[in-house]
Amino acid sequence: MPKGATPLPVCVALSNQSTRKAKEKAYEVNELSLDYHLSHAAFACNILLEDARATLCQEITKEIDAEIKKVRSKGDPEKKIPELFRRKSEKCETISKLRIYVSYLDTPELTAYTLLDKQAKQLVIWLPRKLLQKCRVGDSYKEEVVELRKLTAHELGHAILHTEKLINIEGLSGSRAFNKGSLEEHEAKVFAKNLLELRHKRNIKIRDEGTIDRYF
Ligand SMILES: [Zn+2]
Repeated sequence: MPKGATPLPVCVALSNQSTRKAKEKAYEVNELSLDYHLSHAAFACNILLEDARATLCQEITKEIDAEIKKVRSKGDPEKKIPELFRRKSEKCETISKLRIYVSYLDTPELTAYTLLDKQAKQLVIWLPRKLLQKCRVGDSYKEEVVELRKLTAHELGHAILHTEKLINIEGLSGSRAFNKGSLEEHEAKVFAKNLLELRHKRNIKIRDEGTIDRYF
């Protein structure tokens, strides 16, 4: 504060108003956060994705370079090559900014899937809004929450384990393109089971001891 300046008088009304505003905002954020199951795990997956992005781009570059080599060795028309270069730069551009985003979809089915939104450069995990609505009303609360957590964990598994495959899937099927008995489905199931078990153990520890091994 400059020399000689007097401090501003505390305006109680204004202070009350700003306290109320901050409280309301905190309530609003908490209410909204209840809609995002396993949000901490989604943040963690985004950190892992950040680390993996450079490697992913290198792999795509390698694959497309091999295709270019093949086209040249076969003596195929050179016009194919600019198209391969375009694909390479488009994919690397998408990957370099790729983020996981969780949202809800109005759909009659109670299933979830993960789809690449090329324009937004996001891997969107679409969860059924119908299930969310069931979580927040009625007495079947627990069952629906457990189901939504399972779906979220399963799709996070696809997003983090099958990133490259999801980017390469054409059309709008996203993670629904993986067949029931496929390796991808098996991996996503194992990931979800283990993630949920670890989270459960952590919650029990906090509840019983009020402590956890690591700060969070
Ligand atoms: Zn799946």
